[in-house]
Amino acid sequence: MDEAGYPMVDPFQKTTVDHAFACGDNTTMFRLIANAVAAGNKAGAVANMELVHHR
Ligand SMILES: Cc1cc2nc3c(=O)[nH]c(=O)nc-3n(C[C@H](O)[C@H](O)[C@H](O)COP(=O)(O)OP(=O)(O)OC[C@H]3O[C@@H](n4cnc5c(N)ncnc54)[C@H](O)[C@@H]3O)c2cc1C
Repeated sequence: MDEAGYPMVDPFQKTTVDHAFACGDNTTMFRLIANAVAAGNKAGAVANMELVHHR
């Protein structure tokens, strides 16, 4: 968690826990639909990539 209490994520929405992602209002004080959609898309794409490479 950062000092504001949000889970820390990298530019790919990955948390410090392996294979765990966070996005949207959960991760930022800038609570906007556009931000949530963008972060959710990123998290989904990277999660998909991880699944493909772990087969
Ligand atoms: C009154 C209001 C007006 C707003 N107006 C605007 C606006 O005009 N423009 C704008 O850009 N943004 C606006 N926002 C902000 C915008 O709604 C949010 O930034 C956006 O919805 C965040 O999306 P999210 O997917 O992160 O979270 P959410 O949309 O909150 O989705 C989280 C989902 O997770 C579900 N959930 C929670 N806990 C669990 C659990 N344990 N298990 C399973 N599901 C769970 C919830 O039921 C919810 O459906 C407004 C917000 C509010 C409250």
